[in-house]
Amino acid sequence: MRIGVLAVQGAFAEHEQMLRALGAECFEIRQQADLSGPMDGLVLPGGESTVMGKLLRELGLFQPLWEKIESGLPVLATCAGLILLAEKISGEEGRHFGTLPVTVKRNAYGRQLGSFYTVAEMKQIGKVPMHFIRAPYVETVGSGVEVLAEVDGRIVAVRYQNQLGLSFHPEVSGDTSVHRYFLGMCTGVFGQ
Ligand code: GLN
Repeated sequence: MRIGVLAVQGAFAEHEQMLRALGAECFEIRQQADLSGPMDGLVLPGGESTVMGKLLRELGLFQPLWEKIESGLPVLATCAGLILLAEKISGEEGRHFGTLPVTVKRNAYGRQLGSFYTVAEMKQIGKVPMHFIRAPYVETVGSGVEVLAEVDGRIVAVRYQNQLGLSFHPEVSGDTSVHRYFLGMCTGVFGQ
């Protein structure tokens, strides 16, 4: 199992640690040449979506990654990663990959509540510790999108075919259950 972790900006190292602890091989994606080997899954980490989107385009990574996602490569997208996948970003004109039929709202929890922690139920997994860091939430979902978790009536986790999108950061909690679920998507245990 070989997982590519987008490593142009943001919280990628923590995902690698977690995936390695679960026995997966990881490699960092920083330039086109990194995409030449086999890849069973992709992680789009948290960070700053505007910066990541710009770097993806400048480094020539945008088109090849978009093609891989479109053709069914399993993706775990957290926080800014979720914004990169979203078909629509609320109140903004542009978008990035646009492969996930949801509308997301960036920095949705306002300044005071920019960062918070809770534990909530995630479908197919159970109770999951959730760290929100200047997080987006999902405002609306398109057809075929399964809502996996809500916090205070707001959607914070979705699955659409090969794409798993989370508002929160599962990689900082020490709980490996979300990454284990994602590796299950990569092997086909949890569907593709
Ligand atoms: N606020 C960031 C953005 O809009 C996301 C924050 C995060 O990834 N922790 O891209």
